[in-house]
Amino acid sequence: MVDLKSQYNFIQDEVQTSIQEVLETSSFINGPAVKEFQRDLEHYLGVKHVIPCANGTDALQIALMGLKLQPGDEVITADFTFAATVEVISLLQLKPILIDVDLLTFNIDPARIEAAITPKTKAIIPVHLFGQVADIDAINTIAQKHNLYVVEDNAQGIGARYVNNKGEKAMTGTLSHVAATSFFPSKNLGAYGDGGAIFTNDDELAYFIRGIVNHGMYERYYHDVVGVNSRLDSMQAAVLKIKLKYLDFYNERRKEAAIRYTQLLSNHPNIITPHRAQACDSHVFHQYTLRIVNADRDALVKYLNEHDIPCGVYYPVPLHRQKAYADVGVKEENFPVTNQLVKEVISLPMHSELDTDQIKYITDKVLRFLDQKN
Ligand SMILES: *Cc1c(COP(=O)(O)O)cnc(C)c1O
Repeated sequence: MVDLKSQYNFIQDEVQTSIQEVLETSSFINGPAVKEFQRDLEHYLGVKHVIPCANGTDALQIALMGLKLQPGDEVITADFTFAATVEVISLLQLKPILIDVDLLTFNIDPARIEAAITPKTKAIIPVHLFGQVADIDAINTIAQKHNLYVVEDNAQGIGARYVNNKGEKAMTGTLSHVAATSFFPSKNLGAYGDGGAIFTNDDELAYFIRGIVNHGMYERYYHDVVGVNSRLDSMQAAVLKIKLKYLDFYNERRKEAAIRYTQLLSNHPNIITPHRAQACDSHVFHQYTLRIVNADRDALVKYLNEHDIPCGVYYPVPLHRQKAYADVGVKEENFPVTNQLVKEVISLPMHSELDTDQIKYITDKVLRFLDQKN
């Protein structure tokens, strides 16, 4: 699905020099590379505070801890996302309220949010799924009206730009109170191990969160709140610092690959190519995800695998039907779209190194399979 080896070959010298510097200074925890990467990322995003941490799941958890939510408080999020989003809500003894998604964008459907709000609702977590920005204007309007926090799960959307209804452009992760991202190797900005970060423009919240990631310490060995230990290590920061310089280039390459895929796959009766929301100025295609309609999606997955084409089904089971979240108390009829998408979606290989020949090979096989079966 990704080609991290080819990507590495291209930046090998720079990355090795950067890692070598960490080895020379031997400042492995909170070393200068972490600070530098943090500053570079703040500058890139146009956000006041980036707080690096150990992974994207921690970033989400810490962002919620920063908002001082109380056990039993309700947090609204999408039914169709990676489990980490809902996992952290449950771990903090908050109550996840799952909402169906939009059939075109696969993102949380704002039209369904308001009906789910109760006096206990405290926050909404939109996920920029597959690299496409969620409908942030609508979500922020609802949040303002009901005095709720908005926490972006930007693990799949880093580098995407959004145009709000006033025509202003801003990066994902800066569109809400606080955001979380992941530097898992296959993400658009991936480390060579685990990593994550929290973003906010709120000085007070940033200060509070900087303590939370460090055992609730604001002054050495004085623990004011119960915190966690969640750090981005210097080696990963050294890699990320280099890769951040290429993020726009990588995302541009993904977009070109997506355009090529769509050219070759549109106008087929069994394929629905990815839709792009109007306000999504730059879909960063963390995944290139098709809907396969009136054809056997699972047989297509098998066929592609047999022809050495990796592909993925993100996600085969909606969160409301996962055993771990069986007690969140939902009605099956509230999720018509997610229930449909889990049967239809297939993600094709997507990364910054995909070339024209590979795309042609992949799309030929997809089309051959669908045409054989009809
Ligand atoms: C990857 C991902 C996460 C978790 O990130 P990790 O670094 O793997 O902990 C959270 N949410 C979404 C939507 C993701 O894709």
